[in-house]
Amino acid sequence: EEAVKSWISNVIKPEQYEKYMENGKDFINDEEIWEKLKANRNPEPQRIREIIAKALDLERLEPDETAALLHVEDEELWQEIFEAAGKIKEKVYGRRVVTFAPLYVSNYCVNDCEYCGYRVSNDKVKRKRLTLDELREEVKALVKQGQKRLIMVYGEHPASDVEFIAETLKVTYETKVGNGEIRRVNVNAAPMSVEDLELLRDIGIGTYQVFQETYHHETYKKLHRGLKANYQWRLYSLHRAQEAGVDDVAIGALFGLYDWRFEVMGLLYHAIDLEKRFDGVGPHTISFPRLEPAVGTPFYEKQKNYLVSDEDFMKLVAVIRLSVPYTGMILTAREPAHVREKVLPLGVTQLDFGTNIGVGSYSKGAFDPEKQQFLINDDRSLDEGIRWLASKGKIPSFCTAGYRCGRTGNYFMDVAKKGKVHHLCMPNAILTFKEYLLDYASPETRKVGEELIRKELEAITHPELKKIVKEYLERIEKGERDLYV
Ligand code: SAM
Ligand code: SF4
Repeated sequence: EEAVKSWISNVIKPEQYEKYMENGKDFINDEEIWEKLKANRNPEPQRIREIIAKALDLERLEPDETAALLHVEDEELWQEIFEAAGKIKEKVYGRRVVTFAPLYVSNYCVNDCEYCGYRVSNDKVKRKRLTLDELREEVKALVKQGQKRLIMVYGEHPASDVEFIAETLKVTYETKVGNGEIRRVNVNAAPMSVEDLELLRDIGIGTYQVFQETYHHETYKKLHRGLKANYQWRLYSLHRAQEAGVDDVAIGALFGLYDWRFEVMGLLYHAIDLEKRFDGVGPHTISFPRLEPAVGTPFYEKQKNYLVSDEDFMKLVAVIRLSVPYTGMILTAREPAHVREKVLPLGVTQLDFGTNIGVGSYSKGAFDPEKQQFLINDDRSLDEGIRWLASKGKIPSFCTAGYRCGRTGNYFMDVAKKGKVHHLCMPNAILTFKEYLLDYASPETRKVGEELIRKELEAITHPELKKIVKEYLERIEKGERDLYV
């Protein structure tokens, strides 16, 4: 206990966030957000159409414009917004959808977030930190599914400090099964110091993800105890990551804690501040988890006021898509299949499949709610998910070339903002998809997938590129792996 206390007292370094504050204030100003929301009520249809047109030109929106979108009432206008959201995604990312799996490594936590199953005061949850051997087994089980990208998740605790996280990243990258390996490891962990983040940068962290949960200062204060109670340490964590040279940072809000319109505005202000300070580089992805029930956690039942309906969820996803056209958008298996079906066309770029969030549950194939942080709702396997995507003409991409050949940070933003990601990435998506189909897919999925590859190959207009992709596809058939253009 003493050791934990002394660890806690050394985590937060106020000088590392105070420098980003202006006159002691954050870039999130609650009053200003509410004023913008009020000032943009009852927007004229004409104005909404102008805003949609701006977003279709892939320009990031201003807070007044996003606030206006959030107040559309007319059903027809919403349909126009939904359509625009799909088009923007196609313009920037093409028909690619990235798939990944979350891997929960440790659920020890010193904090007491009211909504989370892992909070320190919850005695209904079984605590578990994977040993490095157990981690290897988990990674092997994921590689055998065909996974190539992970998001590794950790509670905040000295048992999962930065040295432990670094060690687990190394082990994950090193674990191989036949041709298979994890090629990109993203991290969702507590806010860290610049020095700690530099260590993770050196190990080769993919995206670093920290959700603000709620941008509303007062609500934040009410729901968090422990280290996480410090709003600023969290709010500027991704600024520190950029400072440390972690190129790809990911923001998010936990919808259901406070007013959803307010949170969308918060996400936008966050994106704007990152852009402003880091040479135009905004968030690599935005997440919009909805609050879920969790073992031993009565919060969800008490939280009727702010829970977001499916209908509002679709609206908020589409508004985020229009507001920050260049960013990736993650829709997790917290959502049931029928919601994912409806929300996918609204601009989503990443989905997880084959998800099991019990610590240590992949290798055992176990469903273990007592080791889970919350309950998931879409339990389709990776194979089923891939088949579903392919049947919708979406090409599931396992490509991580962006990371391997330096297409991250500033370079990626530049390309994304010009709407050119898919020119670069579609060929690689096809190649990695081919690998997946050969190595992991069921016969049914392979059939649907091969058909899609044939169509996508036809759709490549550049003759030289088409030739290369064809040649690479043949080489993959013959057994080569990890080819990318
Ligand atoms: N401990 C780190 C932190 O809080 O940043 C990282 C891990 S935490 C387990 C990952 C995310 O899960 C949180 O940022 C939060 O948004 C989300 N989460 C927590 N409780 C949840 C719940 N009941 N339903 C849905 N998502 C939840
Ligand atoms: Fe701990 Fe993160 Fe859960 Fe809060 S959300 S209790 S910090 S694991």
